[in-house]
Amino acid sequence: MRYVDEYRQPELCQRLIAEIRQLATRSWTIMEVCGGQTHGLLRHGIDVALEGVVELIHGPGCPVCVTPLEAIDLAIDLARRPDVVLTSFGDMLRVPGSHESLLQVRATGGNVKIVYSPLDAVEYAASCPDQQVVFFAVGFETTTPATAVAVQQAGQLGLENFSLLVAHVRVLPAMEMLAASPGNTVQGFLGAGHVCTVAGYQCYQEFAQKYQLPVVVSGFEPADLLSGILECVRQLEQGEATVCNRYQRAALAAGNRQAEAIVDDVYEICDRSWRGLGNIPQGGLQLRGRWERFDARKRFALPELRQVESSPCPSGQVLAGKMKPRECEHFATTCTPESPLGAPMVSAEGACAAYYRYAKNAGDGACAQPIS
Ligand code: SF4
Repeated sequence: MRYVDEYRQPELCQRLIAEIRQLATRSWTIMEVCGGQTHGLLRHGIDVALEGVVELIHGPGCPVCVTPLEAIDLAIDLARRPDVVLTSFGDMLRVPGSHESLLQVRATGGNVKIVYSPLDAVEYAASCPDQQVVFFAVGFETTTPATAVAVQQAGQLGLENFSLLVAHVRVLPAMEMLAASPGNTVQGFLGAGHVCTVAGYQCYQEFAQKYQLPVVVSGFEPADLLSGILECVRQLEQGEATVCNRYQRAALAAGNRQAEAIVDDVYEICDRSWRGLGNIPQGGLQLRGRWERFDARKRFALPELRQVESSPCPSGQVLAGKMKPRECEHFATTCTPESPLGAPMVSAEGACAAYYRYAKNAGDGACAQPIS
């Protein structure tokens, strides 16, 4: 496939691995904050290929995993109402709430409909004027432009039966929280390439300076990831801490200004509770006052929930990079993709699902797949 095959060439990847190994005079700890990158690293066995020189730890980069328990409970509350249809991306359905999941609610008569885009939900609302259609808006900066456009379109259509349950989150404040936490071991970050295609990467400059941590914007193919790691190791070896773009084919320093303008029109920054990590100042987005008629929390007078996780799943430890999935006592025993105890095993982007899929027997790296 054009534009992708060249970033999967085994010779190129092996050369990059050799360069990293040659450059590193010690072991460095690097975190990616993107579920797609986590899966790429595991799928291609990069964690095993770099054993001894780079410790890869996985941050809170899976949007489904960090959606707070209380947001799922509110979505369940809405889906149980007879006049409401709760629309959502499919991977949210199996994430456990306090007592049940949206999938269980649907199985027992709740109104839950899977859509592939927020605009599908707008279209559905336009075709069903007698029903209140709520879209469960989760995800990072990559998904916010689409939900913002949905709100604008609902406004243009004059829809009074469409609203959003907003649980959007922002990557940079989570990185700040991790970098500032006592006992932080992360020495460099791989920036999430797709987030930077929307939000740009100049916003990381102050962060890199303040915490003296390199941030290297990286893509998802094996050569993208290895190139990002190589630059990160180079900076660490040289004592540098700058922002560098290794995803030049898609990410621009200023991001996508048109998308950013749409997001800025519809959303404003707010504090947000992240699942497993607690409240993160400026860690989320909420609808601006002029769009609040599309806010499901206000339309349905939803309560402010503050749930305490009671699940046996230590997802907070995994999401903060303090525990590798296979160190969890439940991993691949009482917690599997078929019977998940927590969101990181449910989501296609979750770290536990990645370890289960690509390295469930690879405590020694034996089952990690070679680059191909
Ligand atoms: S293996 Fe399961 S229980 Fe353990 S952290 Fe992952 S999702 Fe939670």
